[in-house]
Amino acid sequence: MIWKGLVVAAVAAGLAVAVAGAASGGGAAKGASASGKGAMQAKNTASDSVGHVAYSDQEWQKRLTPDQYRVLRQKGTETAFTGAYWNDHSPGIYVCAACGLTLFDSHTKFDSGTGWPSFWEPIAASHVKIFRDTSYGMVREEVVCARCGGHLGHVFDDGPKPTGQRYCMNSVSLKLEKAPGKTAAR
Ligand code: FE
Repeated sequence: MIWKGLVVAAVAAGLAVAVAGAASGGGAAKGASASGKGAMQAKNTASDSVGHVAYSDQEWQKRLTPDQYRVLRQKGTETAFTGAYWNDHSPGIYVCAACGLTLFDSHTKFDSGTGWPSFWEPIAASHVKIFRDTSYGMVREEVVCARCGGHLGHVFDDGPKPTGQRYCMNSVSLKLEKAPGKTAAR
């Protein structure tokens, strides 16, 4: 993935690269973006509809809560039945807790019984990226935010109709924007 290579390269170089398109989602993460003034220079490297957001590891730690950082940036997993959304049935749009990109519509959410918020489809295929994950002796499909690369969870093939997929997400990686009626990607 070229985009990921660029992001990784930017992070490795200690650079912060942000996208103008991510501005609306800045508030989703703790502390918004004001703290980055001066220290982090934003640069638009967007090459697709969702753009790219990357910050140095240090900046992510400032922007995210410890739990968000552990899951989103370090691929952690929240304990089942402890997150904010596994049992939340409110209508709305789930966005990335790190960058604000729209990820899932509540109308695709279902009760998987796993203790994690589960969806049968992302709000748009281009809003998530899927990577093979062979950690912990398992072969899984990792789901990350297509804009910031934040770890969201995994997707499995044992979901309900109509897709048969189960996007098993971490609540802490998401933020529910309660907005009944909004069903389209934006
Ligand atoms: Fe994101």
